[in-house]
Amino acid sequence: MNIREHVEQYREAMTQWRHQIHSQPELGFKEFQTTKLVERELTAAGIELRQLDAETGVLGVLKGAKGPGPVIVLRADMDALPMDEETGVPYTSAVPGVMHACGHDGHTATLLGAAKALAALKDQLRGEVRFLFQPAEETLYGAKRMIEAGVLNDPPADYVMGLHGSPLANVGQVAVLRGPVMASADMFTATFTADGGHGAYPHRTRDPIVAAGFFITAVQEIVSRQVNTLDSAVVSICAVEAGTAFNIIPKKAVLKGTIRTLDKAVRSQMESRIREKVEGVAKTFGCGYELDFVDGIPSVGNDDEMVDRLYAAGAKVVGEDNVIDPIRPLMGSEDFAFYGEIVPQSLFFQLGFVEPGVEPIHLHNTKFNFNDGALVPGAAVFSQFVYDLLGSN
Ligand SMILES: [Zn+2]
Ligand SMILES: [Zn+2]
Repeated sequence: MNIREHVEQYREAMTQWRHQIHSQPELGFKEFQTTKLVERELTAAGIELRQLDAETGVLGVLKGAKGPGPVIVLRADMDALPMDEETGVPYTSAVPGVMHACGHDGHTATLLGAAKALAALKDQLRGEVRFLFQPAEETLYGAKRMIEAGVLNDPPADYVMGLHGSPLANVGQVAVLRGPVMASADMFTATFTADGGHGAYPHRTRDPIVAAGFFITAVQEIVSRQVNTLDSAVVSICAVEAGTAFNIIPKKAVLKGTIRTLDKAVRSQMESRIREKVEGVAKTFGCGYELDFVDGIPSVGNDDEMVDRLYAAGAKVVGEDNVIDPIRPLMGSEDFAFYGEIVPQSLFFQLGFVEPGVEPIHLHNTKFNFNDGALVPGAAVFSQFVYDLLGSN
């Protein structure tokens, strides 16, 4: 069976779906039209829809005609971003202030193409393929919502797989890494408090701004001095709010930051060090403090055997030389991580969209547009992977 050739017949359809979704972008948990389009196309392919207790999101279920076997979940995300589009393409966003700047229109069309291709091969498959179109990846809560709605249950999923368009690989290539792929992301808000007072008489109060200043400096020491130099970690304070006038010492200074790591132990080390710093700095400067620490999402890691399978599948549909090792993980994050926490045999790979010789426009840029040339390679890799796993042999 030549899967690449088989998937080629959906090229035109995938391109049309992608453009349609692109022109009608929807924010997280509001993907109503996209949900409808996906439901319509899955139904047309004879794929059963499982009712989900969620307003947006779709789970298509394809049972192989060859009888029982493993369950694999293929996942795409559907949400757009709150930005004004500046691509100038004919199918540009018709919704002011919303655009597909992360390529989730492409992910959705890719998975739809794979769904159509695999539905046509149903007679040769055993087990079950679930096509999961999740809402709200950008807000990091969509995957959780889908897990609560039971997409990994009845029967439990054995494998889960997802992709993201990538400026790190050329169109026609896929990139896959062993071990950690993307970072965990946690958030914190640190607040230093005091009584407030006159800028001319600082000795009559405590100064939360001075405490905040020391805290900003103190956290820089965590990664440089406390985390093993061979591990990866990021702490960035990205918001600072304090004060209203040039001569009033404010009652509080609020700092917001994010922490990224690739390893569970480092992740918890970062949290405890941040807690110590806030408490220590507040004590040193005689201020009160509050720390609101939010566990965001875990890191994404690839199962070794799944990586081997991807190399084998990729070699068949995009060519051995086009399955590349990106060498390094990304310190960005992905809510795909939540699926991987439940299903150990998980895999997340990068789908190249760079035209050779052309400087790529990066994700979340107002001029970003998913490359249609990546649709067939993406759908073919998904399809071949499933065919190798569940195809009769
Ligand atoms: Zn994004
Ligand atoms: Zn994205």
